[in-house]
Amino acid sequence: MSERFDVIVVGSGAGGGVIASELALGGRKVLLLEAGRHLTSADFKRFEVKANHDLYWPMRFAPLPGGDVVAFLSGKSVGGSTTINTKVALRAHERDIAKWHAASGLTNDDGEPFSLADLEPFYDRVEKVLTVRERGDWGKSVFTAQAGFRALGTDVEPVMSYTDAKCLSYGSCLQGCPTDGGKSTMNAYIARALAEGGLELRTGVQVNRILIEGTGGGPRATGVRWQTADGHTQEARGRFVVAAAGALNTSLLLLRSGLSSPAIGRHVGLHPLRLVYGLFDEIQDSHRVYPISAHCMQHQVDEDGGFVLETSTIMDPVAFGTTIRDERGPLWGQPLIEALRAYRRWVGVLAMVNDENHGAVSLGSDGCEQITVDFQPREHARLDAALAFSRRVLEAAGAKQVCWTGIISTHTQGGCRMGDDPQHSVVDRNGRSHEVANLYVGDGSLLPRTLSVNPSLTIMALATRLAMHLEEALALAPAPG
Ligand SMILES: Cc1cc2nc3c(=O)[nH]c(=O)nc-3n(C[C@H](O)[C@H](O)[C@H](O)COP(=O)(O)OP(=O)(O)OC[C@H]3O[C@@H](n4cnc5c(N)ncnc54)[C@H](O)[C@@H]3O)c2cc1C
Ligand code: SF4
Repeated sequence: MSERFDVIVVGSGAGGGVIASELALGGRKVLLLEAGRHLTSADFKRFEVKANHDLYWPMRFAPLPGGDVVAFLSGKSVGGSTTINTKVALRAHERDIAKWHAASGLTNDDGEPFSLADLEPFYDRVEKVLTVRERGDWGKSVFTAQAGFRALGTDVEPVMSYTDAKCLSYGSCLQGCPTDGGKSTMNAYIARALAEGGLELRTGVQVNRILIEGTGGGPRATGVRWQTADGHTQEARGRFVVAAAGALNTSLLLLRSGLSSPAIGRHVGLHPLRLVYGLFDEIQDSHRVYPISAHCMQHQVDEDGGFVLETSTIMDPVAFGTTIRDERGPLWGQPLIEALRAYRRWVGVLAMVNDENHGAVSLGSDGCEQITVDFQPREHARLDAALAFSRRVLEAAGAKQVCWTGIISTHTQGGCRMGDDPQHSVVDRNGRSHEVANLYVGDGSLLPRTLSVNPSLTIMALATRLAMHLEEALALAPAPG
């Protein structure tokens, strides 16, 4: 006989970590299942390759025309991608949320177009839990980049961030925060729910199926199934199941569980980015600051260019050396050796571009995942403009050489978008599946259109909203005897 819970949540990242903890702290019996391990600040060392192994989902790629690829990065441990992210905490722009209604017809509880106002109380709550604050404590490399922005008639301003006073600006956010100053969902939510609430956390558990039973009332989610490392099949039963395995994994989990909504895995947004690096004469030590403490929002909306630049940042040496390129292609041989020798003199600008959700994830006939990306001319133009502007900024700041990376997606969104119409969306405004009763989606998959800013605060706000909706649904639904 399998165990029974009020709610089973699959995935402990920005979405799942918040939903499971909010419900558990409210007194519900919650099972949180996470494919990765439960590692904490005591385990986090700045050993790049080990962190890639311990804390990241194996890197995925999608082909681009011309032979290039997009690389997808996401976390795989308790806290999900929030354990290895840079913790920039930005609310969406009103225009971002207006795109949601335009894309999927999403309305609010009053039947009006879903708007930023519908998220504001939930942003307030999340920001309080995460102790969001402004980062005006800039290092030298930020001031170096700022001079370039100012020379071009614009400027940068401090970012908001979910880091508290314990952040010592080590710069190792992508390998896990060693001081607990970074408020991942593990630190800010899950730890408390484990200590005080009815949260049961199981790690190293990769859920491969949502259990669905056909009853008189139509298909209904009743639990989940996973395979243990030694090959045993295990199951747990819940009154509600929340899939929060991250934008790509949640779509795949729904497809592997037999859901067939035509919108599953479609409208995936990449929020594609490049790191653009300038080489300066003086030592900058961009790797020894809080990685993103300033940003330029002048081009945020599509009509103004459709990109946001953040600074100052640099990848750690292995990723830096294996991704750096210029117009001739990847650096190799002597130019690469020289670039790495000069590691302490590079300053990075992160250029993130508004895309239009032309990505997709699906299962091939062999059962393996397939990711496709189909950038349209408008998106290519924005990517080119963001690279050109970043380059001009660094040159205006005095850079002697400028290089950049290929296209990366760390903010993958969509795939199970919210909407009112079951033909064009996977879940409703509360994250509830149109196809299977008692099944919810609670992560970055929900977003009908990519945001123009880093998405985790919005994912956590939606997760908080979903947790409150589930609390009401639990109160109404009779518990099985
Ligand atoms: C390097 C990097 C830097 C970033 N920086 C920022 C930033 O500064 N600010 C910001 O707002 N956003 C940032 N992001 C993005 C942000 O972290 C993500 O958008 C957000 O965490 C996504 O939340 P999620 O719940 O959808 O998925 P995730 O947080 O990725 O969590 C999904 C979890 O589900 C688990 N999982 C997957 N499949 C299964 C399964 N079958 N069974 C069990 N568990 C499973 C995964 O292991 C993972 O732990 C960054 C991301 C990366 C990768
Ligand atoms: S910069 Fe701050 S938040 Fe990031 S790893 Fe270092 S101490 Fe933690």
